[in-house]
Amino acid sequence: MRYLSTRGGAVVGNSLNADFTDILLGGLAADGGLAMPEHIPTVDSETLNGWRSLSYASLAFEVLQRFATDIPLHTLQSLIDRSYTAESFGSPAIAPLATLEPGLHLLKLSEGPTLAFKDMAMQLLGNLFEWVLAERGQVLNILGATSGDTGSAAEYAMRGKQGVRVVMLSPVGRMSPFQTAQMFSLLDDNIVNVAVDGVFDTCQDLVKAVSNDAPFKARWSIGTVNSINWARVVAQVVYYVHGWLRATDALDAPGPVSFAVPSGNFGNVLAGHLARRMGVPIARLVVATNENDVLDEFFRTGRYAPRSAVRTWQTSSPSMDISKASNFERFVFDLFEGDGAKVAELWQTLDKTGQFDLGGTAAFARAATEFGFVSGRSSHAERLATIRSAFTRYGVAVDPHTADGLNIAERWREAGVPMVVLETAQPAKFAQTMVEALGVEPARPTAHVGIENRAQRFVRMPADLTQLKALIVQRCG
Ligand SMILES: *Cc1c(COP(=O)(O)O)cnc(C)c1O
Repeated sequence: MRYLSTRGGAVVGNSLNADFTDILLGGLAADGGLAMPEHIPTVDSETLNGWRSLSYASLAFEVLQRFATDIPLHTLQSLIDRSYTAESFGSPAIAPLATLEPGLHLLKLSEGPTLAFKDMAMQLLGNLFEWVLAERGQVLNILGATSGDTGSAAEYAMRGKQGVRVVMLSPVGRMSPFQTAQMFSLLDDNIVNVAVDGVFDTCQDLVKAVSNDAPFKARWSIGTVNSINWARVVAQVVYYVHGWLRATDALDAPGPVSFAVPSGNFGNVLAGHLARRMGVPIARLVVATNENDVLDEFFRTGRYAPRSAVRTWQTSSPSMDISKASNFERFVFDLFEGDGAKVAELWQTLDKTGQFDLGGTAAFARAATEFGFVSGRSSHAERLATIRSAFTRYGVAVDPHTADGLNIAERWREAGVPMVVLETAQPAKFAQTMVEALGVEPARPTAHVGIENRAQRFVRMPADLTQLKALIVQRCG
């Protein structure tokens, strides 16, 4: 399988196409676009139904081997087997499907080590990275900024891995005590937590400043694991296939299923779109946003207008507080049937004017008619009301992000089509909002009880580029 850039230019170096392992460690394509496969592999319904008896890991192997064609099959199999274990994900099901009422299900994607769905892709990414670095005799120093979920998922995936080090910046005092403890209690030598005086944007600006120093970046092998990483997207395709299989296991004639997806950077729902294009019978893909409704605006009107930092609200579903949806370009590439020149032109308009508008075009119409996309936006009050009603009606506590998904899902249910809401985090991670909604502290999985009392290790630092670079030189040599 070859990969191209969404902007039609070079994907890696000067080359117009590349293999899976060539793009595995990279971020943006060389021309500023994102890597996409030159075609989407399809599976027929007989093959799909034949996967019902497979374990999650074996299903992942079936999906991934179609995208990662340059990894030897036995290697791929063993990397996957090591990633999706009952030990890491709490049960052999890995991502259990819970039925709330007939036709309405919750796909539990947050059973991994950091209690958020990012573990589903990141655990595999850790093993893929370790393998490809050893193959190529390289090392990688991952530099990142986090406000919570991504940083911890990356650290738990990379801890103890050969050839990989993580330097993760977080704003002092801005994460919840639980999130802080989750990250800072990791004492592995290859994990470096840096608590920066400032806010999340301060951290992100520092990361950008280091990345903009190309010689420094190359000398110290600095890379990232952000949500545009292609392997992360592909790993997420697996749970849509798994979700469809589990939601239709008991049906005589398995038909289409809809998915509701709490969305921010558009990585999760993009994976659903790819699953649909592979041939998984998906009726609707419901994009659920919070008050930061850039994506809802697009799917309602065709206008894509990323927000500035000051117009990006802090909400009670913080992992969806994004100003622009970094994976969205991959979807637009599909709307224009792979026309890279058109995508490049749109992103030029975006850079110049801060927006583009596809309203009324045939390309935009395809989002709903051909690809099944619908959307909705949820407010803080609706989020709390949904947490309460789910608790009363089903006896289930859902986290604030999942509540956004469930709230919007209710608007788009159709008779005879099962709706699967993706659970993207466990309530224990967002205790404050859960207390506000239900009046009681959320239950915590036993492994996480008392983590605030564990020894913590981190480096405290002012927002100073020189000091950050000195730390990198000291720790990444
Ligand atoms: C990252 C995250 C999201 C958003 O996922 P995207 O792939 O960025 O759209 C939603 N919920 C939780 C809990 C997350 O951590």
